[in-house]
Amino acid sequence: MIKTILVFAESRDGVLRRVALEALGAARRLAGKDGAVHAVLACSGGAAEEAATLTARGADVVHIADDPSLRAYAPEAYVAALGAAMAAVRPDAFLLGHTAAGRELAPRVAAAYGAGHIADVTAIDVSHDGGDVGFIRPLYAGKAFERRSFVPGHPWVITVRPNNLPAAEPIDAAERTGTVTALPFTVPPLYTAVRGLVRRTGGQLDLAEADVVVSGGRGVRSAAGFEPLHALAASLGGAVGASRGACDAGYCDYALQIGQTGKVVTPQLYIACGISGAIQHLAGMSQSRVIVAINKDPDAPIFGVADYGIIGDLFEVVPLLTAELQRV
Ligand code: FAD
Repeated sequence: MIKTILVFAESRDGVLRRVALEALGAARRLAGKDGAVHAVLACSGGAAEEAATLTARGADVVHIADDPSLRAYAPEAYVAALGAAMAAVRPDAFLLGHTAAGRELAPRVAAAYGAGHIADVTAIDVSHDGGDVGFIRPLYAGKAFERRSFVPGHPWVITVRPNNLPAAEPIDAAERTGTVTALPFTVPPLYTAVRGLVRRTGGQLDLAEADVVVSGGRGVRSAAGFEPLHALAASLGGAVGASRGACDAGYCDYALQIGQTGKVVTPQLYIACGISGAIQHLAGMSQSRVIVAINKDPDAPIFGVADYGIIGDLFEVVPLLTAELQRV
């Protein structure tokens, strides 16, 4: 039985990441009415607003680890803070977002705490009638799915893929009984220090959390060729991504790369422009809700995973789509 759950409320620049609220929503469903949901926030200089958001959405206790070592992401400090939360809460399960930080922290915390680990969960099969709870994760670029469940008596550390689980909704003000508490922890020796942060994506939406992703491949032909894709993404309130082919060719930054060795995205809508559909690219986007492919080669493998396919030149099709969207 999963009764006590801890959630890592990952934030960036003082704003909770959406996947933190998705993990909180999953925790609430897993805990049911009788269980307890704890959240841990790591910050430097206070996180009252994030804590209020978490209690408003059903966290029973929010633990705030506040220390200068947590200002920039340093794995050793974060593991120490999350480990302190594990020791204080002794949860049956600890949920984190399957983000760059979550992927690094989860196995470290699991190892330090002697817990099991399930990574990259995209669905949870919840049952409160004493049956087991299944954690579903895709394998082989989404060609197969695995269902894992708990071995009773062992804690588990689980990462959930962004954009797959419903976020926790605000609860009635009268039902908000959550409390906020300080979490003491011992800062370990830090072997690395972040001296500065360079943002490469010019303030665009976080790719992993965007509802719409417009991606370009080698068919885009140049950096300037990405302009129509940016216009289409802007008209849909989305973000721009890329294949490794486009990144390798120097058309865009590697921060945009989607796939096996890039980011994994699961937007509501993924528009692949001039991307052939190599298996390594599919590994990063094939779980998207609706996939549209624009390619001038009718035999391009991307059409095999697309819900809608447009056989044509992206430089004609993309501006037409943008113009039509701007008209409505
Ligand atoms: P291409 O395969 O060259 O496809 C270009 C497509 O554009 C073609 O289908 C063509 O018909 C179409 N096209 C051309 N002009 C137009 C036009 N005007 N209008 C419409 N369509 C047009 N790839 C990733 O994407 N992400 C990864 O994370 C990744 N990791 C990898 C890891 C490893 C270990 C390896 C070996 C490879 C990895 N790759 C990855 C590379 C992958 O195998 C492919 O080489 C790459 O995805 C191809 O990129 P592409 O589809 O943009 O280019």
